[in-house]
Amino acid sequence: MESILNYINGKLQAPVGQTYFDNINPSTGKAYCFIPDSDERDVELAVSAAQAAFPAWSSMPAARRSAILVKISELITRDLEKLAIAESRDNGKPLWLSKSVDIPRAASNFYFYATGILHQSTEAHAMEGMAINYTLRQPIGVAGCISPWNLPLYLFSWKIAPALASGNCVVAKPSEITPYTAYMLSALCIEAGLPAGVLNIVHGTGPKVGGPITAHPGIPVISFTGGTQTGAAISKVAAPMFKKMSLELGGKNPNIIFADCDFDAAVKTTIHSSFSNQGEICLCGSRIFVERPLYEKFKLAFVEKVKALKVGDPFHEETRIGAIVSKPHLEKIEYYINLAQEEGGTVLCGGERVYPEGELASGYYLTPTVIEGLPSNCRTNMEEIFGPVVTIMPFDTEEEVLAFANSTKYGLAATVWTQNLTRAHRVAANLHSGIVWINCWLLRDLRTPFGGVKQSGVGREGGFEALEFFTEEKNVCISLK
Ligand code: NAD
Repeated sequence: MESILNYINGKLQAPVGQTYFDNINPSTGKAYCFIPDSDERDVELAVSAAQAAFPAWSSMPAARRSAILVKISELITRDLEKLAIAESRDNGKPLWLSKSVDIPRAASNFYFYATGILHQSTEAHAMEGMAINYTLRQPIGVAGCISPWNLPLYLFSWKIAPALASGNCVVAKPSEITPYTAYMLSALCIEAGLPAGVLNIVHGTGPKVGGPITAHPGIPVISFTGGTQTGAAISKVAAPMFKKMSLELGGKNPNIIFADCDFDAAVKTTIHSSFSNQGEICLCGSRIFVERPLYEKFKLAFVEKVKALKVGDPFHEETRIGAIVSKPHLEKIEYYINLAQEEGGTVLCGGERVYPEGELASGYYLTPTVIEGLPSNCRTNMEEIFGPVVTIMPFDTEEEVLAFANSTKYGLAATVWTQNLTRAHRVAANLHSGIVWINCWLLRDLRTPFGGVKQSGVGREGGFEALEFFTEEKNVCISLK
């Protein structure tokens, strides 16, 4: 089998320890390549390379940095097909989704930040007759970027692109569950002429690679996307070292459907917001609240459509639900489906494993699951499941549904369906959430702030906010006397 290599100091290389572990294709349950089991020695090499590359990269004119990053974007687009196939093989997501969302978005991430730095400016503050202050925005140094498995190249590039564009060098770690497209990106960076050491990608596990990145004194800024518990573990190490941190964490997002909604649009989009990418998107709405007069009608129409979703081979055009990313994750989802029933819930549809024909029979497939009859404060409705499982509940008043929606420890995204404009604004303002979609879901403008409140995270990605995160402001005051 092929072995993935680390990308350190401009070269593809084996881990110092020469050890590897299996990379499993979730659609077959079989290993198909080896992942470097890197450790702190590889991280050390990556940090040294990044530190050595920093003076030249950070002082390069923005237009030249921009041109290299635009080139990376163009190469991702050139290789869209190959990258999409690799992403679906690694993650289990339908190929049409990798082709239409994941890989195009990775190209856009590079393009957006490559061109964004051409339009940045900083402030000046005049003190009449006395002095003038101006603000410099300077790159910080070596940034540590750690990303999850659900949108592998999409989220990896969402961090790396602004970090590099703003003049930092990077030591990055993709998820060990889905490392392949990050490996392919290394080759594209070499082809694009990215100087050696500017971006370093170290493959391996959270404890052996993510831990040393977090703890390294030569990495003053950490951008992390992943689970809330991991975010807490990272903070515990990084906060006493006064590292700058951006944490994008878990969610348990409400999807609130008022009786006056555009019914067909609400049903159709709720299918997407519940089950896109097997429900493995931090923005998926996993708790559906429907105003009581519409409850039965919505439930029947929704469940009928869910039952029709085709589960199976990610490489089939008609597949709507591919494979769950890993066996442990499949078992975690099944644990929650059982818990929901112990807590008094009724499974309206789904919750069953699927065994397709041939070599896919040992893959990780689960039918999309809708559960009703649970109180809003039970564990099933409080804890993140991160799979193709939603609960559905009726509500009577706006006040009541806001209390339900805001009752979890998370606050990432919320969706509201209503034709009443005043109510839409009022509910949006009162939701404890970093992102609110009204009559839509996952409409993303890369200029907007992205992130959560409460235990869904700290800080915002997106737009100029990310470029600001990866730079330090310095005020320079000049006396006019
Ligand atoms: P995870 O926290 O298990 O892993 C994320 C990354 O952190 C991986 O690369 C992993 O190897 C690394 N890691 C693990 N332990 C570490 C440690 N001790 N120190 C440093 N790094 C460590 O998350 P996951 O299972 O890969 O992803 C799913 C989670 O990510 C869900 O909770 C989901 O909601 C969240 N997520 C959030 C967003 C967002 O934007 N808020 C987006 C996508 C996913």
